[in-house]
Parts: sequence; structure tokens; C-alpha cells
Amino acid sequence: MANIVIIGSGPAGVSASLYTQRAGIETTILSNGGGALSKTEKIENYYGFAQPISGPELEQAGLAGAKRLGVTVLEEEVVGITFEEKLTVLTTANKYPADGIILATGSSRKAPKIKGLTELEHKGVSYCAVCDAFFHRGKDVAVLGNGEYALHEALELLPVVHSVTLFTDGQALQAEIPDSIKVNTQRIDEIVGTEAVEAVRTTDGEIFPVNGVFIAYGIAGSTDLAKKIGALTEGSRIIVDENMATNIPGLYAAGDCTGGLLQISKAVYEGAKAATELIKFIRKQQS
Ligand SMILES: Cc1cc2nc3c(=O)[nH]c(=O)nc-3n(C[C@H](O)[C@H](O)[C@H](O)COP(=O)(O)OP(=O)(O)OC[C@H]3O[C@@H](n4cnc5c(N)ncnc54)[C@H](O)[C@@H]3O)c2cc1C
Repeated sequence: MANIVIIGSGPAGVSASLYTQRAGIETTILSNGGGALSKTEKIENYYGFAQPISGPELEQAGLAGAKRLGVTVLEEEVVGITFEEKLTVLTTANKYPADGIILATGSSRKAPKIKGLTELEHKGVSYCAVCDAFFHRGKDVAVLGNGEYALHEALELLPVVHSVTLFTDGQALQAEIPDSIKVNTQRIDEIVGTEAVEAVRTTDGEIFPVNGVFIAYGIAGSTDLAKKIGALTEGSRIIVDENMATNIPGLYAAGDCTGGLLQISKAVYEGAKAATELIKFIRKQQS
């Protein structure tokens, strides 16, 4: 039986799952918990409600409908997408090979406001270890973050670079870090460099020379995940065609992560479109 993995349990991911599951494709939703709806007090511009409904209530109702149809919903943080024998989703605990993947991870997190960070993007500041580790082989690098995603990025870099220091920027560590990775909990003042990254300076003025800085705060955002497998992005959105397909065969995206109107109705439509197109793609592959 064909299977798909949907990353995200918001309106886009859940809407997609209703189509794939009912088409006889084993459907798993991986989610890190509530998305944008969980922050929404009251919705009164979505079809079908005589009275306003709260975001969490709508989100839970959507999930309950998917589960009733037999969709598997697992709470796991996704840290990467790769290609092994098939497209494969990597979480902090498991690997999920799939005949197709739909990214429905909502809008990307904003980059932290650290002096020098934006200016040095593509000059040593990176959002993807698997993409850019090679450029820093044998060099000292920094990873900015404090959780499982930062650990995943650090482990990706470790075999290639000379040393990895995890800078938590004043936050408490939320992952068990092996001794092979140095940890620095000081607040960061600036990423130093003009033509390329040269160092990280902390607020108490200490300077740590590094060749690259990898940003991995919080959990992997939509464009972080897309880039890991080479899907094209533009700013904070994933680039898709009119069928919600990315440039990677079998990888689709829907909802806030594709940009444009950041609304439930658009997320629901794109979830449905991505699912119906992915169903056609899988059937074609299997015929
Ligand atoms: C305060 C607020 C008020 C709003 N009010 C309205 C309104 O009145 N009307 C309206 O139409 N829209 C409103 N919106 C917008 C609406 O909530 C979004 O457009 C919609 O939720 C987008 O759906 P989505 O499925 O694309 O993403 P989201 O609902 O954000 O879901 C993203 C999912 O991806 C998961 N995820 C992300 N990264 C990972 C990872 N690394 N691993 C595992 N899971 C991951 C999250 O856990 C979540 O389940 C509001 C948004 C906000 C923030």
C-alpha cells in the first residue's frame, strides 16, 4: 500500500490528509503540536459557523475528523527530509520513508535579530547544515540554538568541520549535548565579518573566531526543511507550481508555508490541491 507523510497538523496538513486517506493511501501526519490556529482567539471569517469559533477548537475538530477516517497523527518534531531509497522524513526519534511528502508547516519563523546576521547570509551564515557543511570543512563553526533541532544540525556538521560550538544565546539547553560539541550559554551581541563570517561576539565582549554560523533556533521551519532536500525557496516561502508541487518529485507544499494569503481558507484549499495532485503522482509512479 502506498504511503504519504504530511508534516504539520494545521488546516493545510489536515485538509490534505482527508483526501489521501480516503484515496486508500496510508497517511501519517507528523506534528510538533498546535500551529497558528492555537494562537487564534476567535475566527469569524471561515465558512460554516453561525457563531465565532476559537482557533484551538477548530484545530481539534479538524484533527478529530482526520483521525476518524484512520489518519495516523503522531506528535514528533521533524528535523530533516532526505532521500534514501525513497523520500524520507527524519524526526528527533524516527525515520519515515514515504511515497510522497506534503510540507504543511505554516509560516517560517523569523530569524533572530542579531547584528550582522542578515548582512552575512550566504557569506557564512547558513540555515542548512546538510547543504553548507562542505564549505566549512576542517574549520571551526558555530550553531545558534538550544534544542533538538540545533543538536541535529551540530551532529550533521561534526564529521566535516574541525569543531562545533553550540551558542544557546542565553537560553537553557533543551537537548542532551554530547561532549564532542562545545556549549556556550552567553548572550550573542554580533556576528562579526564584512565579506565573510569571522567570529561570534558575546555581550560581555568575548570573541570566538568561527568560519560559519548555522542558525537553528527553535524547531526547523518550513523553508529550513525544504532546503535540506534542495526544494526551491524564496524568502520565507516554498516555491510551488500551480499543482502545489515543489521542484523535488513527490514533495508538495501547502498553506502558510507557500506564502500569499495567510488564511485558513487558502490553507484548506492548498491542502486539498496538494493531496489530489500527489495522489495522481503516486498512481502514475505505481502504474
Ligand atoms: C493570531 C492569529 C490570528 C489569526 N486569525 C485568523 C482568522 O481570523 N481567520 C483566518 O482565516 N486565519 C487566521 N489566521 C491565520 C491562520 O491561522 C493560518 O493561515 C493557518 O493556520 C495556516 O495553516 P497551515 O496549516 O498552513 O499552518 P499552521 O496552522 O501554522 O500549522 C503548522 C503545523 O506545522 C507543524 N510544524 C511546523 N514545523 C514543524 C516541525 N519541524 N516538525 C513537526 N511539525 C511542525 C506545527 O506543529 C503545526 O501543526 C490567524 C493567525 C494568527 C497567528
